[in-house]
Amino acid sequence: PAAPALLNVKADFPIFDHHPELVFLDSAASTQKPRAVIQAISDFYSRDYANIHRGAYRLSAHATDRFESVRADAARFFRAPSPDGVIFTRNATEAVNLVAHSWGQAHLNAGDVVLVSEMEHHANLVPWHLVTGLRGARVEYVRATPDGRLDLDDYAAKLRNPAVKFVALQHVSNVLGTVHPAAELVRLAHDRGLPILLDGAQAAPHLPLDLSALNADYYVLSSHKMLGPSGVGALIARPDTLNALPPYMGGGDMIREVYPDRSTYAPAPNRFEAGTPAIAEVVGFGAAMAYLTDLGMDRVEAHEQTLLHAALDRLNQIEGLDLYGPPTARGGVISFNVRGAHAHDVAGFLDEANICVRAGHHCAQPLIRALGCASTARASFYIYNTLDDVDALAGAMAETAEFFR
Ligand code: PMP
Repeated sequence: PAAPALLNVKADFPIFDHHPELVFLDSAASTQKPRAVIQAISDFYSRDYANIHRGAYRLSAHATDRFESVRADAARFFRAPSPDGVIFTRNATEAVNLVAHSWGQAHLNAGDVVLVSEMEHHANLVPWHLVTGLRGARVEYVRATPDGRLDLDDYAAKLRNPAVKFVALQHVSNVLGTVHPAAELVRLAHDRGLPILLDGAQAAPHLPLDLSALNADYYVLSSHKMLGPSGVGALIARPDTLNALPPYMGGGDMIREVYPDRSTYAPAPNRFEAGTPAIAEVVGFGAAMAYLTDLGMDRVEAHEQTLLHAALDRLNQIEGLDLYGPPTARGGVISFNVRGAHAHDVAGFLDEANICVRAGHHCAQPLIRALGCASTARASFYIYNTLDDVDALAGAMAETAEFFR
């Protein structure tokens, strides 16, 4: 067999200098940061910092250039239709709220339906509860299959309901790693003339993306899940789509003109970036995308697939362990339960072995209910994980399952 396609980048991540024993398997919650990102933020504050878009002096103009160049970098990295269609938000959650409130307040009426799925993270669910509640509309759910995929027949059937006005679905599941057929999800919505938002929080870190080709109306993601700092995320859309929406938040930087009784608004991106943004964090996000570009997203994906399949092979042999998720089309996430044990106790056992996994409902309560369990433990892989980490997980899981048998 061909040598496994593995990256060798652990040394780029200072957290492992401070915690050499750490087996970090919680990257789906948030990733560790490479030195290049930490350094970029520190350098920006040390050498270049000033507020942006207030270019009366050169230091501010330069900071503005640094910030705006990340917008161009993001457009290239994600193959967005245009840099003007890249809106920096606080995170994926804020990006969904922006669309839910701007689009929903303008377009939803009593009796209308927003179609989501049972697999959504609460970030792509609760904003729709809020806005449908305000507008007398409601949320309906595309069913999940027992092995954790979207039921595409159910999706097609629910799209035929004329009350459906908007579709909001995830690209990749944070609980099961399922990679949904995003192009097909978009095509089916567009065939019905419906706008669609894709939650790419778990896709952007792991897959090469071509958002122009994918053609979702709205795509959202978070920097902190892809090596960048927390406090910055993005909404990516076509500028004309964004300019047709009312602003979400009002304030400085997003206006054209302000009169005593009314304001007019700037076009995207400024239209949706009220107030001073997370300037240094955006610069750090730029460094994260540069780092991933150097590695190559195809190699990132291959590395995770190698670890995923090595881990599945090992975990599948352990008696008393229930693994969730589809057999194919999945990323580097494994949800599991030890029969007879609570997921939090399993995570506690693993923590004793310095293995970090998450336990609970993973902000996806409807999915956890659909799977028929109360919670799961979740191991998730990223570029700094190694086959030694897989060994550590499999060894500790064998002991944990043995303990509870
Ligand atoms: N969607 C999915 C699928 C996620 O996994 C997450 C983060 N767990 C989010 C949305 C929300 O991301 P954030 O907390 O960065 O806004």
